[in-house]
Amino acid sequence: MSVESLFPRLEPLLPKVQKPIQYVGGELNSTVKDWDEASVRWALMYPDAYEIGLPNQGVQILYEILNELPDTMAERTYAVWPDLEALMRSEGVPQFTVDAHRPVRAFDVFGVSFSTELGYTNLLTALDLAGIPLDAVDRTDEDPIVLAGGHAAFNPEPIADFLDAAVLGDGEQIAIAISEVVREWKEEGSPGGRDELLMRLASTGGVYVPKFYDVEYHPDGRIMRVVPNRPGVPSRIFKHTVMDLDEWPYPKKPLVPLAETVHERFSVEIFRGCTRGCRFCQAGMITRPVRERSITTIGDMVENGIRESGFNEVGLLSLSSADHSEIGDVAKGLADRYEGTNTSLSLPSTRVDAFNIDLANEFSRNGRRSGLTFAPEGGSERMRKVINKMVTEEDLIRTVTTAYSQGWRQVKLYFMCGLPTEEDVDVLGIADLAKKVIQAGREATGSKDVRCTVSIGGFVPKPHTPFQWAAQCDHETVDRRLRELRDSLRGDKEYGRAIGYRYHDGKPSIVEGLLSRGDRRVGRVIRAVWEDGGRFDGWTEHFSYERWMRAAEKALADETVDVDWYTIREREEHEVLPWDHLDAGLDREWLWQDWQDAMSDVEVEDCRWTPCYDCGVCPTMGTEIQVGPTGKKLLPLTVI
Ligand code: SF4
Repeated sequence: MSVESLFPRLEPLLPKVQKPIQYVGGELNSTVKDWDEASVRWALMYPDAYEIGLPNQGVQILYEILNELPDTMAERTYAVWPDLEALMRSEGVPQFTVDAHRPVRAFDVFGVSFSTELGYTNLLTALDLAGIPLDAVDRTDEDPIVLAGGHAAFNPEPIADFLDAAVLGDGEQIAIAISEVVREWKEEGSPGGRDELLMRLASTGGVYVPKFYDVEYHPDGRIMRVVPNRPGVPSRIFKHTVMDLDEWPYPKKPLVPLAETVHERFSVEIFRGCTRGCRFCQAGMITRPVRERSITTIGDMVENGIRESGFNEVGLLSLSSADHSEIGDVAKGLADRYEGTNTSLSLPSTRVDAFNIDLANEFSRNGRRSGLTFAPEGGSERMRKVINKMVTEEDLIRTVTTAYSQGWRQVKLYFMCGLPTEEDVDVLGIADLAKKVIQAGREATGSKDVRCTVSIGGFVPKPHTPFQWAAQCDHETVDRRLRELRDSLRGDKEYGRAIGYRYHDGKPSIVEGLLSRGDRRVGRVIRAVWEDGGRFDGWTEHFSYERWMRAAEKALADETVDVDWYTIREREEHEVLPWDHLDAGLDREWLWQDWQDAMSDVEVEDCRWTPCYDCGVCPTMGTEIQVGPTGKKLLPLTVI
């Protein structure tokens, strides 16, 4: 049955809203397939505004891979701003895809990629606007399978009631496998309705269907166990790992935004995973092991991506791009190749070492000399040992000295506040470090014209990390420490003016903490916040801490648990955590030992360069570390 475009009904609303261009679709490299020729149809959502959502790599990759399948189609949808939401409600226009303006409810699968938990209320808006019941149990065969992915899906329990399914890990292969299951089930005449389809997906062990699991609680509110409630459903669900990135060189046809977005460049993921072992870093832990893309594939992807998109900036993405075994050759090869053109290169995340300055110089050969950012994360030597960020003050000073002496005038330093075992002195150490950075810069350049900006975020303990048991620091303490740090920086007559200071207050981190380590009971809080008008919680101007606290108090009134219980409470070793049945491959005992090591300031090396220390991922997932060098070099562009 054909589905009509909603555009004729949407178009009259667009002159009345801000940035209407974000809703019209038709971007370069977007795809519109014939509805009737596809047997499996996906609506893919990044649950934030177009300007954040469009550049998202995960969605772009899946969009392209699914559309390459002959019998499958994928379209994109983003969160609509409150101005359009109000008009859509009053005019009865449902949530639509931007590609062909088809109603989201008409698709087979509604896949939502969550990089952060703060997108949860936007999921509810989209479901509600789409006409899809918020609670999965109320959905019928007319509704799509609502499927979550992305890093937040490693603990989807807070949104379990709103999801039909969730997948953990790399999406490329599992998206194709899910399409295949849906296609077969539809071809057979959809036997058993959505329940059987979900059962088929769940029985693979690689798709989590929350309603097939019951959560039992102790009287004090802790979880007793999570158990499958029907036969054939595995007790653990495993994550997916793509083992040869060269076989998946996506995006091949990067989307070129119509409206302004946060990143306007072609991004190539140069490797996936990170084994540096920073204990706060969920992304590093859940994406293990390291799998590099080869230098030649990177070169081919850059050449192809620029040709297909017309972007004049290339970003080399990963969790720590300077760690690629051939990054020097990649940087030099690309800089040589694009010398004299208007194509510039950028390396978004950098480690604190002098090698990065050589890279930065290579990258700035052909373009802007943007600021350098380093992330020592902890303000004191002790703090950096606790978080396993193996960076000494000496390393940092040596690196910034090199940067300043080579002509850089501005460096940014990123830290976290509220880390486990942190004391006031650790945060005030940030001021000392920043002053030493400026002092080193002045000595290296003989000039007072050097600056650094200190940027600080609140630490949130995350599932599947050694800090998953930790008590989150309360927001009053975080705010007080940040104020004292500000006063120490601003009050310094000699260095204060050379140091910029950016920080957020601690309250949003508490909400993020509630959502990150929450269980199914937190779903009621999310719903109450959404009903109270909560939208775009990742945006300072839309976020309301008071609304979250109000909602939590009401929604958890009959429970023995509250926001403090979820956030500032330390967990015991054997407490069942809401995500224990979701397997990221990390051995629980290893994580616990790493947590104990953190409290004794014991550091752990990177297993890329030292023997495996048995974190559990490789044997559990059948994976291995994949790093070069390949010894190959990039060839110059062939002029045709
Ligand atoms: S199992 Fe060993 S090699 Fe694999 S990621 Fe863990 S520590 Fe590294």
